[in-house]
Amino acid sequence: MTSTSPLAGTVALVTGASSGIGEATARRLAKEGASVALVARRADRLHILASQIQAAGGAALAVEADITDRAQAEAAVQTVIDRLGRLDVLVNNAGLMLLGPVVGADVEEWERMLAINVQGLLYMTNAALPHLLKAAEDDPRQVADVVNISSIAGRVAWANYGVYNLTKFGVNGFTESLRQEVTTKHVRVGVLEPGGVTTELGSHNSGAMRDDIDAFYANTETLVPQDIADGIAYMVTRPRHASIAELWVMPTDQA
Ligand code: NDP
Repeated sequence: MTSTSPLAGTVALVTGASSGIGEATARRLAKEGASVALVARRADRLHILASQIQAAGGAALAVEADITDRAQAEAAVQTVIDRLGRLDVLVNNAGLMLLGPVVGADVEEWERMLAINVQGLLYMTNAALPHLLKAAEDDPRQVADVVNISSIAGRVAWANYGVYNLTKFGVNGFTESLRQEVTTKHVRVGVLEPGGVTTELGSHNSGAMRDDIDAFYANTETLVPQDIADGIAYMVTRPRHASIAELWVMPTDQA
């Protein structure tokens, strides 16, 4: 990367950077010139990723946090400001998908999904917004970005996806509402909705749900995390006057 890289001089925070889409996004935004803050709970993975990004000539900071805890989410944003000086791009990517029928559900699983997919995203957005609004004024690009990772499950509902659907439909609604609130202050807010991507996401399921997920991945040429990182990089490197409010990225093989 050079001083002419699209994100040179900017700071990007990626939640869920310890695996899958978040990890690929962190690598990609670093290549575009951003200093990247890596947020997740598995600190060992974050430190390895930060070292790899630095070895490739980029800048990265590992920030261990459980963002379902409001104090930890707020502290993570403050650490980024203290250590990297500013915040220009927030990628709300951390998430959890636990599938199963509503009838007889384990309510604790619902609570875990709501905590990360909804509350974690809200805590991070709330803590980041004052810094993003400031960055939109003094950023080298005169614009700042929030990208929320939703899902095809934020567009279409299926049986057994009930609470995951609820969280991702909610992310879509919140994203568009916030976009309208801050876009004229040059904070762009967009949602990216992936179809099937090969990551650890399905691995937290068990029994018949795990079998269904494994069968889908075995029989479909799915996306890879870099495909989603490409989409995010596209969204945050548009010229100041262009805002990508929604990007739906599907495997060609997924009907
Ligand atoms: P992964 O399971 O690989 O990544 C999930 C990430 O979220 C991990 O880095 C995990 O880190 C982080 N995370 C989970 N809980 C917390 C927490 N409490 N605090 C901080 N970080 C947390 O899955 P993906 O990369 O696939 O998922 C990324 C996003 O993409 C999710 O929002 C998912 O819903 C969405 N998505 C994925 C699709 C797919 O097919 N894979 C399709 C559509 C959407 P750690 O455990 O270290 O905290």
